[in-house]
Amino acid sequence: MDNCLFCKIINGEIPSTKVYEDEMCYAFLDIEPQAPVHVIIVPKAHIESADKVNEENSKYIAHIWEVIPKIAKEQGLKNGYRVVNNCGEDGGQTVMHLHFHLMGGRAFAWPAG
Ligand code: 5GP
Ligand code: ZN
Repeated sequence: MDNCLFCKIINGEIPSTKVYEDEMCYAFLDIEPQAPVHVIIVPKAHIESADKVNEENSKYIAHIWEVIPKIAKEQGLKNGYRVVNNCGEDGGQTVMHLHFHLMGGRAFAWPAG
């Protein structure tokens, strides 16, 4: 997708610090970390947001959830972690390419503000 920040990160047009990659997803460090570990995981398909998940593209999401425990282990998150998806304007989404925040290395409050 032209002009999508995360598509450009996936194809290397914009540099990022890679932590994991396979044929369906790419994971990299967030530029503004909100926790000692803050990884962004994106599907290698331009899905605008969680609201656009459907029967055709949900395999990317299922795959990401298979990969999350592997990345968490590699990142040393032995005591748990938080996975966040911000969806749309009210959800606080700023980059319109579906992504999950994998955060850990500290305890998080709940409910989130
Ligand atoms: P959202 O607010 O859409 O859920 O999350 C977007 C995330 O992408 C934010 O946490 C932000 O810090 C991160 N981000 C924005 N631009 C860049 C960038 O150019 N590189 C990296 N590595 N992260 C970015
Ligand atoms: Zn994209």
